[in-house]
Amino acid sequence: MPFYDPAKIEILIDADTLARRVAELGARITEDYRQREAGLVLVAVLKGSVMFMADLCRHIDLPIELDFLGLSSYGDSEETSGVVQVTQDLTRPVRGKHVLVVEDIIDTGLTMQYLLENLATRRPASVRVASLLQKPARTQVAVPVDYLGFEIPDRFVIGYGLDYQSKLRNLPFIGVNVGEGPPYPD
Ligand code: 5GP
Repeated sequence: MPFYDPAKIEILIDADTLARRVAELGARITEDYRQREAGLVLVAVLKGSVMFMADLCRHIDLPIELDFLGLSSYGDSEETSGVVQVTQDLTRPVRGKHVLVVEDIIDTGLTMQYLLENLATRRPASVRVASLLQKPARTQVAVPVDYLGFEIPDRFVIGYGLDYQSKLRNLPFIGVNVGEGPPYPD
């Protein structure tokens, strides 16, 4: 038995499909930022975006910086509370730099709306958004997504960084819990 129960997880996006799409986004980002003079810093939102960040940045053929921002709006619940907390701040100023926010999923959009307002006060040269996933059916506030991996249906997804009650972020694919109970052995 692996660390998860395959019978309780339906695979929505497999690892090869993820890898191909992330490579495409990296190539587009490389082209879009190649001529820009100011530096590019990728800002990943912890913790769900770490896989996407790690894979995406290796497909960007430019001298970029990486930084991380801890945000939390969920606790262990599957519903957004709308209240966003900064749990860990950036390590370096982004003033005058191009910022690319790297996010795992845009659900209601509330987290990204907060983040974009927060980043704007730091006077970057520009801010764009790369999100691996978006659930259009759940949108409460429209946020601009410049680089989108996949639109997905309104289902709670896990894996490739996304958690099931803080676990299973290390699944190599994006899946959905099906059947009764958690998708890992008790
Ligand atoms: P929003 O503020 O857009 O409603 O929610 C954004 C955050 O909620 C994401 O960064 C992620 O942490 C969490 N989230 C939203 N949908 C899902 C989901 O389907 N699965 C998991 N694991 N987290 C989600």
